[in-house]
Amino acid sequence: MGRERAVFVDRDGVLNDLVYDREEGRVSSPFSVRELRVFPYVPEAVKRIREGMGFKVIVISNQPGVSKRQFTHAEFERMNAKVRKAVREGGSAFDAEYYCLHHPHALVKKYRVDCDCRKPKPGMLLHAAEENDIDLRRSYFIGDALVDVKAGQRAGCRTVLVGHFTTMLGRMMEREGATPDYMISSLRDAPSLLIGLGERERAGPRDHVDATRPVQTDGRTPPERARTAHPERRTASPRKAGPRTSSPSPWTLCG
Ligand SMILES: [Mg+2]
Ligand SMILES: [Zn+2]
Repeated sequence: MGRERAVFVDRDGVLNDLVYDREEGRVSSPFSVRELRVFPYVPEAVKRIREGMGFKVIVISNQPGVSKRQFTHAEFERMNAKVRKAVREGGSAFDAEYYCLHHPHALVKKYRVDCDCRKPKPGMLLHAAEENDIDLRRSYFIGDALVDVKAGQRAGCRTVLVGHFTTMLGRMMEREGATPDYMISSLRDAPSLLIGLGERERAGPRDHVDATRPVQTDGRTPPERARTAHPERRTASPRKAGPRTSSPSPWTLCG
């Protein structure tokens, strides 16, 4: 069992905004670096969690877009680099990033794999824990979908769902058997949730953390509640045509 504690974070919908796809009539992950918008509060939240509280911060994300030819592998890397850069400019960093590139219905054959890493499976979390000396039971997984909650539960983490509780979400939680331990409306509220749970912030000289911020009280979810909730809460910008050409290259950090 590991000694370190981690806050695992999903990428799309947690670190960066989702995009409204007119053609598909639904909200989805960005397909290009141009579409990807890092939420403005993310760098500070990551810094408070990592530098302020001493958690490792590790990205855990399903990214089947390359396998579906929605974007190239190069674009995928540019998108990750954009998120990474924003966090670095805020004075922090990710300790590691894990992406599952597989999909059971992938167009690109080599990614058409029934892998162990695609959430809701816990593979990426287990792998990340092993490689980064993480104690999963004392770690958190913050995601915006019920697959994140499920993966976190299966890995033995404490789970935090980003979203707003609705009746529909509650029904989906019940149906999926995926009730998160906590709910917050965005990653902005994660540091205060953690403080409220007794995770003290370290006041280092280089940190300008504000430990006096009020504790987020939207904490504990009522029993039997929720699901993705993307459509309700997103004010997604319309998708613009981005590069959708395919040029798959072999790359994955898991599976
Ligand atoms: Mg997500
Ligand atoms: Zn996978």
